[in-house]
Amino acid sequence: MSASKIDTQIPGEPALDTEVIIVGAGILGIHQLHRALQEGFSATVLEAGDGVGGVWYWNRYPGARLDSESYTYGYLLTKELFEGWKWSELFAAQPENEAYLNYAVDQLGLRQHIQFGARVTSATYDESSGSWLVRLDNGQEMRCRFLISATGPLSAPIFPSIPGREDFEGISHHTGQWPKEPVDFRGKRVAVIGTGASGVQVIPAIADEVASVTVYQRTPNWCTPLNNRPLSAEEHSSLNAEFENMREALKESGSGFLHEVSDRAALDDPKEVRLATYEKMWNSPGFAKFGAFYSDITRNKAVNDEFSEFIANKIRAIVNDPATADKLIPTDHGWAGKRPPFVTNYYEAFNKPNVSLIDTESTPIVRVTERGIETTDGSHDFDIIVWATGFDFGTGSLVRMGIRGRDGRALEDHWADGPSTYAGTMAHGFPNFFFIAGPHGSAGNVPRYGEHQIDFITDLIRYARDNGHTEIDVPVEIENKWNAMVDEYEVYSSFGKHSFFYGANVEGKATKFLSNPGGRQALKKHYDEAVESKYNGFFA
Ligand code: NAP
Repeated sequence: MSASKIDTQIPGEPALDTEVIIVGAGILGIHQLHRALQEGFSATVLEAGDGVGGVWYWNRYPGARLDSESYTYGYLLTKELFEGWKWSELFAAQPENEAYLNYAVDQLGLRQHIQFGARVTSATYDESSGSWLVRLDNGQEMRCRFLISATGPLSAPIFPSIPGREDFEGISHHTGQWPKEPVDFRGKRVAVIGTGASGVQVIPAIADEVASVTVYQRTPNWCTPLNNRPLSAEEHSSLNAEFENMREALKESGSGFLHEVSDRAALDDPKEVRLATYEKMWNSPGFAKFGAFYSDITRNKAVNDEFSEFIANKIRAIVNDPATADKLIPTDHGWAGKRPPFVTNYYEAFNKPNVSLIDTESTPIVRVTERGIETTDGSHDFDIIVWATGFDFGTGSLVRMGIRGRDGRALEDHWADGPSTYAGTMAHGFPNFFFIAGPHGSAGNVPRYGEHQIDFITDLIRYARDNGHTEIDVPVEIENKWNAMVDEYEVYSSFGKHSFFYGANVEGKATKFLSNPGGRQALKKHYDEAVESKYNGFFA
């Protein structure tokens, strides 16, 4: 499977260590490695961690689990690989996801191509040879023809600028940098800062074993049930029997899910039918609440308000203390104005005597001290602080990697006013550099749109190799067409300017839409145009 020689090496040019370097051994990096080797490239994955998994390696906090159906999230490369793994639950937890990715790496024979403990600190494009010089934090240098970042959309953790974080003498971890050694929560006084998708998973997962959980919430989110359950032997059999159809359906799906898309508008139904539909959605699995819902649920404000009020009533019914319930109900955005988390026993946790909520809007955190956290309302002592404070979405990992393109241009400067990309895959002026699941890429279930990007990249570098091209750069006009699509369609996104999809959670970050509002259909259209034109303009 692996290439025995380097086909893109040019005599007289600096020697390539490998043709393709992929950064990150998460679900997409592993997939890209497999595809590159399949096409006869020599390829190496550089992974900062000591194991495979990416987000499923780093986010090993209690409660971490999928909210895409496990079997739609995993690889669909071959029936054999699919059938060889029996997902235990509809939405698998972190340990199973990490084990699954190790299974895939071994089944596909990829482990010897992955270098662990290898953090990329810089990558510089060498125009004279059309190659990238990549440096690692251990001082090692590697030269490659094609550099592919598979660092994912949510891998650069951020901490708020609260003074004193380093002073805390207890245990303190960010959910996205959770240690490998298990953290013992038993009998501990725990603070959880942040109530996004990570925080709301941690809180109910630890509530029963800790002495206390104090939740520091700045803005509540609209949480609805994940509705997880075990998968039965019968379901495994029918999934295996349906594998080809499922793979085809997921390939065609705009969002990468199997939820049947509804084209029914909410106001086509009378109120009692709408309320019954809301109830059905409340009881539906994960992202069915997006895909299989009324087509205008995020676009028609009156309908969105009605559904948000339906959830608010659920919160009031679950949470015994009305003041706490009130604090848990968002007032700054309607449902899906931010990425809505899916939860298991989250609101119920606030009925436990050892779980309390501090609203940091009314009583902001002043500082972290040696012993705990001080707000404008007083101090609390803790043994453990969990920072569930999120990530620098889309661009974060890329602009921290020291990428230098043509003329030494720094990617962080190039994107200072927000990213400019071609299909969330390339950036003009950064030849032979590609990113998967970076800014402007995301379109639902990450591995599904990610494989679309991987296929495009793999076909493009193969075409370049087979036709003797050593430099690939997307033409400005083609990149601008994609940017124009993003600008035109961003109004259709449900996510508001206060969300991380606009960079609002990172101090000093430009306010620019960071997702792909055209979805998989837009990716397909723009990729197809490039392929049909035989990548006209992409080669020097
Ligand atoms: P997040 O959604 O950005 O949430 C960060 C939280 O930290 C927010 O509640 C934020 O409050 C809070 N925060 C930030 N600074 C604060 C401060 N100074 N004081 C108090 N609170 C502060 O990050 P996340 O929860 O890690 O989730 C990020 C994304 O990762 C998700 O949207 C999802 O795409 C993915 N994820 C997926 C899963 C899954 O189920 N598969 C699980 C976890 C994460 P504000 O809202 O007020 O800014």
